[in-house]
Amino acid sequence: MPNVKFYKNEDLPLELHKVRIVQKLNLVPIERRLDALKEAGYNTFGLRTADVFLDMITDSGVNAMSDNQLAAMMRADDAYAGSQSFERMQKAVEDVLGKKYLLPVHQGRAAENVLARTFIKPGDVVPMNYHFTTTLAHITEVGGTIAELLCDDALELSSTNPFKGNIDIDKLVRFIEETGVERIPFIRMEASTNLIGGQPFSISNMLDVRRVADKYGLMVVLDASLLGENAFLVKQREKEWGENSMGDILKMMTGLADIVYFSARKLSSSRGGGICTNRHELYQKMEVMIPLFEGFLTYGGMSVREIEAIAVGLYETLDETMISQSPTFIKYLVETAEAKGIPMVTPPGVLGGHVNAMEFCSHLRQNQYPAGALAAALYLCSGVRGMERGTVSSVRDEQGNEILSDVELLRLAVPRRVFTLSQINYVIDRLEWLWDNRKLIGGLQWVYEPRVLRFFMGKLEPTSDWPHRLMEKFRKDFGDSL
Ligand SMILES: *Cc1c(COP(=O)(O)O)cnc(C)c1O
Repeated sequence: MPNVKFYKNEDLPLELHKVRIVQKLNLVPIERRLDALKEAGYNTFGLRTADVFLDMITDSGVNAMSDNQLAAMMRADDAYAGSQSFERMQKAVEDVLGKKYLLPVHQGRAAENVLARTFIKPGDVVPMNYHFTTTLAHITEVGGTIAELLCDDALELSSTNPFKGNIDIDKLVRFIEETGVERIPFIRMEASTNLIGGQPFSISNMLDVRRVADKYGLMVVLDASLLGENAFLVKQREKEWGENSMGDILKMMTGLADIVYFSARKLSSSRGGGICTNRHELYQKMEVMIPLFEGFLTYGGMSVREIEAIAVGLYETLDETMISQSPTFIKYLVETAEAKGIPMVTPPGVLGGHVNAMEFCSHLRQNQYPAGALAAALYLCSGVRGMERGTVSSVRDEQGNEILSDVELLRLAVPRRVFTLSQINYVIDRLEWLWDNRKLIGGLQWVYEPRVLRFFMGKLEPTSDWPHRLMEKFRKDFGDSL
């Protein structure tokens, strides 16, 4: 709602919905939180929600559903083949994303599996603005590699560039010339570039990508998992589009891609996903993979209830008041924390607020996993569960050397319509306490390190007894309170 004023203080976010169902939260004492951390291997993915107060690990599958989505789930049409629920999802995809042919999948990474197996052969390289963890895993699993061609200030954590998710067009052209089109299956653009802090690309950048793709006869694939938020920020930040509707902006972006895929866990609902295109020959190439990996062509591993919720959720993406709450809360979180001196990624993006852990824990080396340590420390002092997005989420090269991540971030996800403003203020308050006591945060080291997507199941331990010292300081400052 960029042009609408609700208060004299324009920066105060406002919920444009009311709460109708609530879930009780647990704020367990810090002593229990320390035990829970140990049990979790100092990896916030290992925590149980019974021990978590505010779960800010992800926006995936945890956005609040609307009354209309729940109502639609009741009229779901259970059928193995030819379900009307699927027809409604198809119609929604065509109306909102402008694509006729839809392949349903059980979640976003399943779409990546289908795309990788259909279009990528060993030795191929996929140019993109930036990777997402599961995208990279699927591309390398079929023998491909990636080339990340982000604009130069994308990795500058503190910046005023409104479109840090833009691909660098000169780098893209040079890359194509040097690599040769035979080895490039497609150009991938990710909306609201997840791993660099939920940073959007502009429509003018996407237009340039299309122009280059046409010149070289390449396909453009759009990862639309966070497209609604990208569109919202285009409306706010890209002058030419300020007067357009969300619908216009969404269609403009998807219209520039040959294939659009999405995780419906983020885009529109709480489960599922899809791949869509207007090119029948591409649809046919991918079609065979759906019964093989997902399920029949009219459900793709999703329940019909989920399919109904996705269809309604897609239409809701057109409503700015549905999309705006999370980005405006994130803006408030980032700007308020920044004003207290806490190093935050700026400008505020979508999906969550991101803390610059390299600066927060400037006394730690990168191979002591500052972002992982910060995630553990914040949980300990607040019960807030964030997610490490740094070297723990990275991989090792073939020789087994650690590939240090470009950035070390603690992500505090703000799923749609889930948290209240006082909960966001609580997060800022504890983050500020931790900032004042940051020197007490120590490093982490691996105890168990899986080969693939190690950040999910891996276990670590502190390199000293720093968690105890942090707990003692907390007790001194907070007394008996939780
Ligand atoms: C979450 C996400 C995915 C993977 O989707 P899942 O539903 O979690 O499998 C892919 N791309 C982006 C940009 C994402 O944010």
